[in-house]
Amino acid sequence: MEVIIGIDLGTTNSEVAVIRSGSPVVLTDDGDPILPSVVGLDPQGKLLVGRAARNQYVLAPERTIRSIKRKMGQDVTVELGKEKYRPQEISAIILRALKQRAERALGHEVKKAVITVPAFFNEGQREATREAGELAGLEVVRIINEPTAAILTYDPNPPEMERLLVYDLGGGTFDVSIAMVESGVVEILSSHGDTHLGGDDFDQRLLDLVCDRFQTEHGIDLRESIRARSRLLAAVEDAKKRLSSEPVASITEEFIAEKKGEPLHLSIEVMREEYESLIEPLLAKTLKCVDDALTDANLQAQQIDKVVLVGGATRTPLVHHMLSTRLGRPVHCEIEPDLAVAMGAAVQGGLISGVEVGTVLVDITPHTLGIEVLDYSDGFPAPHGFSPIIERNTPLPVSKTEIYSTSRDGQIVASIRVFQGEEDDTRLNSLVGEFQIQGLAPVPYPNQILVKLDLDLNGILKVTATERATGLAKHVVIENMMERFRKRERVGALDRINELFADSDDDSFSPTKPGALSIEASFDSQKEENSDDAELRETIETARSLIAKSETLAASAAGEDAAEMRGLVQDLQAAISRNSIDDIRRVSAALEDIVYYLSDV
Ligand code: AMP
Repeated sequence: MEVIIGIDLGTTNSEVAVIRSGSPVVLTDDGDPILPSVVGLDPQGKLLVGRAARNQYVLAPERTIRSIKRKMGQDVTVELGKEKYRPQEISAIILRALKQRAERALGHEVKKAVITVPAFFNEGQREATREAGELAGLEVVRIINEPTAAILTYDPNPPEMERLLVYDLGGGTFDVSIAMVESGVVEILSSHGDTHLGGDDFDQRLLDLVCDRFQTEHGIDLRESIRARSRLLAAVEDAKKRLSSEPVASITEEFIAEKKGEPLHLSIEVMREEYESLIEPLLAKTLKCVDDALTDANLQAQQIDKVVLVGGATRTPLVHHMLSTRLGRPVHCEIEPDLAVAMGAAVQGGLISGVEVGTVLVDITPHTLGIEVLDYSDGFPAPHGFSPIIERNTPLPVSKTEIYSTSRDGQIVASIRVFQGEEDDTRLNSLVGEFQIQGLAPVPYPNQILVKLDLDLNGILKVTATERATGLAKHVVIENMMERFRKRERVGALDRINELFADSDDDSFSPTKPGALSIEASFDSQKEENSDDAELRETIETARSLIAKSETLAASAAGEDAAEMRGLVQDLQAAISRNSIDDIRRVSAALEDIVYYLSDV
């Protein structure tokens, strides 16, 4: 049977996929599935396609062409070296590189392809794309819309008619489409977008922030030097990507400029919130397009069955947050967002050539993972707040870090309680593991603590807490997360309500936020590290300072509270004399609870 490859010919990046063993697979070069849609000539006039061409863009723009997709269908030419080319000829060079990639991976010649185009492409643009395919030596068996391809990857055959919203934010363009899918047929109901909005604009905003700060400090505008700008563009794009999984990113570039003969280095930290405030206005524009697409399709947000994210820039957490808030439902991003369109093109190719194509299977986290924090609700402390770190439906492996802080001056211990579930209150979620980080610097609050969750394909979850200022770190490894996820699915609503009631009667369940004292029994499959004598000593030390603080507070507390505290102090002293670390922690947690509330009164 003849192979039909699927190609996503993007403005910024392109990919090629094929059906293998009934599933779409994106083909890679040296492990890289992405081919930047950039064509250039090196100083010797040799053709460059992909990353090599992209890397020379800032330094040699006269020899490099990018974003040619924007010109498809126009009667224009672009210059490359001494020659002039039509847009379809440049696109043909990209398509030929993808064809060759596929032939190398498959070990035989490839002649046919399905190529995707934006839903808003007119006939002329589609025709130009078809011609580009033919110039590349491919028979274009079908041109399909990008949102259609994404839907074929996600949900080709829903049991009933479904309405999907496809939000596609790439490097240079944004599209939103609303589609109806039934029995393998996808109908686009409406489509809106902005052909000049994407991840590249995020890079530009971050670049301006970095350059402005450098200029304030050194009086030099790095944007004026082509070389410095080129280095910084790569650095800020990298930082931007890191900010999708980390709360802070540092950007360091040595010898970036010179002043009075002395080299200047750049070293800047950008917090995620700061970056988000830069891109928020751009994302607000995309939401306006979402509203327009809904209006055009004559639909309300609640009539949409599924929201699917496509395009590399949708990895930005703020996109998930703003979109799910606006549409009132979780968004789907289980399939690598920059590969989903090429995969769908391969699915279409498979369907045309009669290959059996099944659902794409990806390993995901079926529940959100996060930690317990101290929240405030109507001005009152809410000690069972759930702070998500890894959202449900995130593909594995995944590594995410969030930043938290202690809540009191001089706090030297922080409890990290890891939960899975979707509720804002941890008592409605399931505890999967907990540990303490002890020996924090006794500094005024807030002392920042980074909490990192790494979940691998085998379901092994590593939780690391790191004091940001000192680097002091502690971690636990929790195995069988997948088994836990399955168990969680079996827990019914009633069980959860029972759990809630059981918890509220249990005074050993203490208020916890990063930093508050709380620890209980450890879990069977949780291997806690460093549990040696030093840990016992440290726990006792912490407990003794808690006793001292409790006694001071008990002296001025109301009768009932004072009596309860004194009882717990006695229990704690007994636990210390038995050297029972579990009891010390359990009683400390209960005592800490009362101390915490009384300190706040
Ligand atoms: P695409 O055109 O779909 O390949 O998307 C390319 C855009 O996605 C570029 O602007 C990339 O910098 C951006 N991108 C890729 N990975 C990430 C990430 N992890 N976080 C944020 N943006 C990303």
